Amino acid sequence: MTDCLFCRIVRREIPSTIVYEDDRILAFNDIDPKAPTHVLLVPKRHIATLNDLTADDDGLIGEIVRRASAIARERGLSAGGFRTVFNTNRDAGQTVFHIHLHLLGGRGLMWPPG
Ligand code: AMP
Ligand code: ZN
Repeated sequence: MTDCLFCRIVRREIPSTIVYEDDRILAFNDIDPKAPTHVLLVPKRHIATLNDLTADDDGLIGEIVRRASAIARERGLSAGGFRTVFNTNRDAGQTVFHIHLHLLGGRGLMWPPG
């Protein structure tokens, strides 16, 4: 997807503050943070929504979730807690159609979300 915002961030065509990278995953700071830690973790391969996942993606999703936990741990958030969210489609407010796991932490987070 050449014009996808997060594909363009992966290709370094749009700048971001990268906090983690490996061959399959990129993690970068959200441009409009909703908490002291607000990191987005994306697969480097374009996947539009969770509805588009297949069984072949199970390992990739596991890596993304475990990486979010590792970033939280590095930032001292493990015990106090943090939130991880995938928004899917309109009712959840998805605005970028390349799956991304929000990692939010560093303050008390309300539940339920709005
Ligand atoms: P969602 O509403 O779940 O699709 O989340 C999209 C997220 O992408 C929002 O939290 C935005 O603030 C964030 N975002 C949009 N553009 C950029 C960008 N250029 N760099 C980093 N984060 C971005
Ligand atoms: Zn993409």
